[in-house]
Amino acid sequence: MDTRYQLQKITVKSELQELQIVWGDGHQSRYPMEGLRRSCPCVFCQGGHGNMGKPVDPNIFAEPSTRKWEITNITQVGNYALQFSWNDGHQTGIYRYERLRDMCPVEHGII
Ligand SMILES: [Zn+2]
Repeated sequence: MDTRYQLQKITVKSELQELQIVWGDGHQSRYPMEGLRRSCPCVFCQGGHGNMGKPVDPNIFAEPSTRKWEITNITQVGNYALQFSWNDGHQTGIYRYERLRDMCPVEHGII
């Protein structure tokens, strides 16, 4: 298995409005919560089944915050994805590790 897509450590930094993930290859990703929420892969947020599975434009992480986000719970889905519960009650998004890593704003030089 590609260590790029292995989850090693996950940290929620509420005061920084960031989710931080350390991957199996040692890369440390930082995801501003606004962009993480906006990139929610669920069918509702993606605007219908026809839009599912499209890659995320990492520039979404350069967008300013519209509110203060909290991740109230994180559930590991099998060994391939994370499900976040947000403080607006939304929790249907299943974020696959590949999707998270590929949209990493640190790796793309966005933040
Ligand atoms: Zn959603």
